[in-house]
Amino acid sequence: MKKVLVLEDEASIRSFVVINLRRSGYEPIEAADGTTALEQLRRHPDIKVALLDIMLPDMDGFEVCRRIRATDAKIGIIMLTARTQEMDKVTGLMTGADDYVTKPFSPTELTARIDALCRRVGGEEESAEIVHGPFRLNTRNRTLEKNGDRVKLTQVEYSIMKMFMDNPGRALSREDILNTVWGRDYFGELKIVDVNIRRLRIKVEDDATNPTYITTVWGYGYKWGF
Ligand code: CA
Repeated sequence: MKKVLVLEDEASIRSFVVINLRRSGYEPIEAADGTTALEQLRRHPDIKVALLDIMLPDMDGFEVCRRIRATDAKIGIIMLTARTQEMDKVTGLMTGADDYVTKPFSPTELTARIDALCRRVGGEEESAEIVHGPFRLNTRNRTLEKNGDRVKLTQVEYSIMKMFMDNPGRALSREDILNTVWGRDYFGELKIVDVNIRRLRIKVEDDATNPTYITTVWGYGYKWGF
């Protein structure tokens, strides 16, 4: 499912957009202020399109747009402008936005714009790559590279890596990993998670005795982050 960032501080408008995006088959990622929006973009590098409101509690939508564009030329950006903010269109496009929608907008209009932008930015296919630091996970071929070198993984190790890279910086419990990777019907012990993590560390860490990518969250599980 294509991810769309929804940056809007007014909860009623945000949930209206979110509900309609879900209905149209998108996966909305919400933010009520600029800082959260930028954080969500770091957490979900596969976001295809960002919808940016302009008047926000912290930095304004133009500033968010500028910051996104500083590092990402590819993502589609649509500014949500108020009718009275005619100037916003110009400013928005100047800061790197691709399109704008004037409030109040109909769900159909918004979805049509997002669809068009997705096609234009070549976002038709599901993102096949997750990139974090030196790691590149190809979800189509189920392969992992570190600094451009292939890391040979078992299917189970691949699934754990995928789970980690989908959830950077988040502590994952051993139960969560077991349920996601082995399935809820698996009647094994949690120890199998630890065994696989130990093996995975040997493959992905610079120094497996001093892990920096897959860190232990004591008494709980593991975390991907550096
Ligand atoms: Ca606003």
